[in-house]
Amino acid sequence: MRSNMKSYYKLCVLITLVVSGYTNPIAPPEDRESIAENYLTRLYGLPQQTSSNTERRSSVMSLRLKEMQQFFGLKMTGKLDEETLNVMKKPRCGVPDVAAYSTFEGNYKWKKHDLTYRIENYTPDMSEAEVDDSIQKALQVWADVTPLRFTRLYSGTADIMISFVVGDHRDGYPFDGPNGFLAHAFPPYEGRGGDAHFDDDETFMFRSPQGYNLFLVAAHEFGHSLGLEHSQDPGALMYPTYVYRDADTFSLPQDDVNGIQSLYGPNTDINPGDPKPTPPVTPNICDPNLVLDAVTMLRGEIIFFKGSFFWRSYPMSTTVEQHLIKSFWPEIPEYIDAAFESLLEDKVFLIKGEKVWALYGYDMAQGYPKSLSMFSLPKKVKKINAVLYDESSYKILFFVDSQVYSYDEEKRRIEKGYPKPVEVVFPGMTGKVTAAFQHKGFNYLFSGSKMFEFGSYNNKLFRVLNNNYFLPC
Ligand SMILES: [Zn+2]
Ligand SMILES: [Zn+2]
Repeated sequence: MRSNMKSYYKLCVLITLVVSGYTNPIAPPEDRESIAENYLTRLYGLPQQTSSNTERRSSVMSLRLKEMQQFFGLKMTGKLDEETLNVMKKPRCGVPDVAAYSTFEGNYKWKKHDLTYRIENYTPDMSEAEVDDSIQKALQVWADVTPLRFTRLYSGTADIMISFVVGDHRDGYPFDGPNGFLAHAFPPYEGRGGDAHFDDDETFMFRSPQGYNLFLVAAHEFGHSLGLEHSQDPGALMYPTYVYRDADTFSLPQDDVNGIQSLYGPNTDINPGDPKPTPPVTPNICDPNLVLDAVTMLRGEIIFFKGSFFWRSYPMSTTVEQHLIKSFWPEIPEYIDAAFESLLEDKVFLIKGEKVWALYGYDMAQGYPKSLSMFSLPKKVKKINAVLYDESSYKILFFVDSQVYSYDEEKRRIEKGYPKPVEVVFPGMTGKVTAAFQHKGFNYLFSGSKMFEFGSYNNKLFRVLNNNYFLPC
């Protein structure tokens, strides 16, 4: 009976083809092709290759690529470019992102609120208590915001059967060893519905950014167990790719709260007087009140930072990619203070407090974080508000409260006469500068929701613009 119903189950397969793909050298063409073929066949309904369909398949492949690029907010080139390949290499879940390629149409939910779960076995990576704790907390994430309640069973059949398995475990969706499929889960349904399988060839972790955090993987999978599909919101737990977050401070994002409450309604056990946690909301770059943390050029792109997120904007492009900072650079803290691109060093520097990280392109540079003292700033400077890099003079302007320090990158020292008040260096600038960058002969200083445009040679104020001026808003 169970096996006949296989086609009704939507599988969630967390897959990581190459965990650290974006730090690897560029893959040879045949690898690129096979990565894309696997990805699109599994997730975007690309037909399996046969001897007779080669020609038609390549045009279908271009269409499927475009759909995948659209889901992730990439440029819709229909070609296997680096950006697209990098997304494909990221750890992710195997549920098709586009509902049409799902074997299982939506609107599945439990018809009861009291659900049972059972942990059938354990992984050797963690203590049993750690597994119990991770699973319990992952379910609690959803119970906190809905009327759903979970009771653990120690024998018999529970609604959500949880197991650690390897290879072919006889449900038609074999696991494939380390760094392949991580886990999958079935949506609400009789029988296998709700069940979650974890690939025990992976290394699951309790409180560590190494390996895969079981709480995070399980919380995502249980979202499927309860009937949720993938979200396009890069801040959502139900976003398809795996991103490490601190499990101790994890708070279910607003997008997921909205999703699960659309199925089950809000938690009715909360007293009106109880303090309500505010779920994290993914910032919208077009929000007219958005105050940016930092802005920098990165090899021709403009990168905007806000909270846990950054946006990549390509000149002349109508698309803006939004990502969690941690999904590109797990080492870098959220809420960075300032960023700039050094042409002399060909690096992008990211500053948080008194620490400095560096990137070569999108890769982390070795030997960082370093101390802010590398820029010869006085010891009393503990926090930078913004940095502006002047391409013509190799001067780096550090904005510290209402002062500007000018660092000569060639001579490696702070210039004489600095610090100076911001309004002396940039006449007409009012308010605290939170971000700055130079672009095509202009200096742009961000303050509040405004962006001040100065000529880069004379620091003359030209215009006051909205801070999303460079974006297709
Ligand atoms: Zn998923
Ligand atoms: Zn399975």
